[in-house]
Amino acid sequence: MTIYRAVVARVRPLTPSMARITFHGEDLAAFTSTGVGDEYVRLFFPHGADRTDVSLPESTENGGWRTPEGQPEAPVRNYTIRSARPEAGEIDIDFVLHGHGTASGWAAAARPGDVIGLNSPAGLYSPPADLAWQVLVSDLSGLPAAGRLVENAPGGVTTRAVLEVPDAAAVQPLPDRPGVRATWTYGGNGHGPSRLAELVEAAIPPGTDLTGGYVWVAGQTNALRAVRRYLRKELKLPAERFKVVGYWMPDGDTWTERYEALPADVRSELDRMWDNPADEPEDLTIRYEERLSTLGL
Ligand SMILES: Cc1cc2nc3c(=O)[nH]c(=O)nc-3n(C[C@H](O)[C@H](O)[C@H](O)COP(=O)(O)OP(=O)(O)OC[C@H]3O[C@@H](n4cnc5c(N)ncnc54)[C@H](O)[C@@H]3O)c2cc1C
Repeated sequence: MTIYRAVVARVRPLTPSMARITFHGEDLAAFTSTGVGDEYVRLFFPHGADRTDVSLPESTENGGWRTPEGQPEAPVRNYTIRSARPEAGEIDIDFVLHGHGTASGWAAAARPGDVIGLNSPAGLYSPPADLAWQVLVSDLSGLPAAGRLVENAPGGVTTRAVLEVPDAAAVQPLPDRPGVRATWTYGGNGHGPSRLAELVEAAIPPGTDLTGGYVWVAGQTNALRAVRRYLRKELKLPAERFKVVGYWMPDGDTWTERYEALPADVRSELDRMWDNPADEPEDLTIRYEERLSTLGL
């Protein structure tokens, strides 16, 4: 893994709820994109008020990173690479301006010269070889990835994109590609209950011929439990034909506090649920999430 130092070159509001920040810097000339549409990186933000002082971690032998001893910990968040232009030493990242949090607050105030760190990217979108159609569903946090996936949509593949954004002002033009149809709906995104599960079900109703299909869903993590269950248990979609990725958790700190307050035996029961290597990871995730739900989490 490589850790890159990135400097803000430009800030452009895309809508009232999203800003595109272009980063440049010597390091970024060597940034190696995976080319996968939803590739994401960890961003390392300044730990204090000085927007140019980032405590960059160092990479470890096992592909992770660690903060050098005695250095402050940089706050870390996941973000999608909206586009990478290594020839210009530039990358774009689109930030939701949701009004809370380190990353969103940083982005809302970003200006040229600000410094952050980032690591090597990884992509999750992985369609099967027989891809004929795909459905992409996300809220605003997944819009940068959905936009890039639309941009990269292979010729001859039908793409249906369904985007849940807070309101009409948050709609963005998606790249115009043959075979792509986009639908926008309003709500969710911390402003009300997310309809991601309903939207997935409406886009791929029971009885759909699943041959050649692939489904990619990203957004509010707890709204995706029902999506994973629907795709796997009701549609019986093989795990290699879908990817469901939680991007953010409403009131995430409280959720973590409540999780950490669980009795030790319940915590170890939850940990042990991941121990059965014979199980399909998606099924393990469904069982794990069902158990969390019974615990009120
Ligand atoms: C693989 C991956 C790729 C991602 N790509 C992007 C991306 O390209 N652009 C992007 O904007 N986000 C993206 N996200 C989501 C982003 O990592 C989270 O939204 C993150 O929590 C933002 O950090 P923060 O410091 O702003 O807020 P936090 O400190 O994490 O949270 C503070 C509060 O803000 C709320 N909150 C966090 N995110 C949102 C949101 N999106 N909408 C409403 N309320 C929110 C939380 O519930 C919490 O109460 C991605 C996540 C993943 C896992």
